[in-house]
Amino acid sequence: MLLGKMGLIAAMVSLLAACAGGAAGGAPEAPPSGKPAGDGTLRWFGGPTVLLERGGVRLMTDPMLGPRGPHAFVLPKHPSTGAPNADITRYVDPPEVPLGRLDAVILSHGHADHFDARAKELLPKDTLLIVAPASEANVRKAGFTNVRALDWGQSTVLEAGGSRVRVTAVPAHHSHDSALDTELGKGNGYVLAWEGDSPYVVYWTGDAMLSEELRQLPAQLGAVDLFLPHLGGVGGDGPLGLRTMDADEALQLMSLLRPRRTIPIHHTTFSHYREPVRALEQQAEKAGLGNGLQLPRDGEAIDLAR
Ligand SMILES: [Zn+2]
Ligand SMILES: [Zn+2]
Repeated sequence: MLLGKMGLIAAMVSLLAACAGGAAGGAPEAPPSGKPAGDGTLRWFGGPTVLLERGGVRLMTDPMLGPRGPHAFVLPKHPSTGAPNADITRYVDPPEVPLGRLDAVILSHGHADHFDARAKELLPKDTLLIVAPASEANVRKAGFTNVRALDWGQSTVLEAGGSRVRVTAVPAHHSHDSALDTELGKGNGYVLAWEGDSPYVVYWTGDAMLSEELRQLPAQLGAVDLFLPHLGGVGGDGPLGLRTMDADEALQLMSLLRPRRTIPIHHTTFSHYREPVRALEQQAEKAGLGNGLQLPRDGEAIDLAR
């Protein structure tokens, strides 16, 4: 059963890698550095939220748009202390960047730190939401009408601004402990592959630990232009251990993926994040992997062409 599922994932991912390389006729895949200058930008809104614009397509990940303050959202059980109904602090306001038209909002999973009340208010209810199957009922209950659910290995295509982007859900295990992983629910990572003559591949982990499936992803994906790992080492100081990667795991994945650029997110903004992002910066430097690492600042437009 497991092998069957992983085989399906491998097939889907290699299909999208082939598409991203262009050329059904088998032209060699252009190296990332040889691509024409793109028009992409990424803005970090804090936590797991980025606005990604490329080739006329505008996407947002896990929108957390509420203001700073001690009651940003409530976690049913604090990942470090186990305290029930724990209020989580947001340390900084999200940047004042207009959301404008969004072609899709992509949700990794349904936890409270990934889609907040303000975002549910602000987003038009017909915004396309791409979600894990376990989240579908909840987002529909919140009034959203245009929802596509993707299980691991499944994909959908977005067409906007003259671009085609294939969005594929990939595994994201929330804990190394299988009982806790099941308790936390099944979520997604995603591969976003811009197709056509300016291909571009983004891998966004969601809340994922470094699992066997993720160790296999690099071989299936080929060149990754942009890697967006969720850090924060959430739960690392608690009795049940890590629920998101720390610098050590992220670095292992970076060394397997060798992405052209890495922009770590899901750190710094909220009080349940435990590990400062500079841990990754320091370890990547030591390991000789610091070159493509770029720490985002709230709201700064990072030019993805450089
Ligand atoms: Zn989560
Ligand atoms: Zn999270």
